[in-house]
Amino acid sequence: MPMATASDRPAALVIEDDETIGRHLHTGLLGNGYSATWCRTGTSGLSAAHSARPDVVLLDLGLPDMDGIDVARSLRADHPDLLIVILTARSDEIDVIAGLDAGADDYLVKPFSLTVLLARLRAHLRRRPTTAPEGPASLVIGALTLDIAARRCLLNGAEILLRAKEFELLAVLCRNQGAAVSREDLMAQVWDENWFGPTKTLDVTMASLRRRLHHAAATAPIPTRPLEITTLRGHGYRLERPESG
Ligand code: CA
Repeated sequence: MPMATASDRPAALVIEDDETIGRHLHTGLLGNGYSATWCRTGTSGLSAAHSARPDVVLLDLGLPDMDGIDVARSLRADHPDLLIVILTARSDEIDVIAGLDAGADDYLVKPFSLTVLLARLRAHLRRRPTTAPEGPASLVIGALTLDIAARRCLLNGAEILLRAKEFELLAVLCRNQGAAVSREDLMAQVWDENWFGPTKTLDVTMASLRRRLHHAAATAPIPTRPLEITTLRGHGYRLERPESG
């Protein structure tokens, strides 16, 4: 494991015996700024929690070798600051209550979207001052540098002043550059407390962000191609990779 990148990413441990869900979670976390370990049993999960020192554990309650509730209790006893999110089927409501009583911080009912999971984790990790910030400290896309830690957006070194939501919107697109990001994902990640609400605010913020990026490129002392954000009708947006433009 490369220590330099591992240290500034939150570490997640997935304890899930279902191959499809486990792989989906593992790759999804890896692709979204986490380091991730995947264990398929309670025993291996508990042992990985000791060795990998995760910030967050995603814990399936229906494990082949142990009762997930016991795993939650043991994790909580050994790691007081660990964020524990239990994963369960709707029919297991009693298990949710037992899991929370055993020390879990939150739960998600299967099936759940990766987007919602990531939004929940962000919300939890934000409230934990001891936890490392999510993802890399800065993102570089062509001439643009997004300094996540300092919340500054620089084009060829010149600062572009962005409002908070414009910055967060751009950060999500930059993290997913070249890939389509749905409106729902953007709403969940940038306005996470009301992602079921109206999405007009997304259009307004996107229009303003595009204006600022184009203005900055047009007025830059060095000729600079603006970042292209493509609208995908009926879906969302995609930040084009600079080399494709
Ligand atoms: Ca299971």
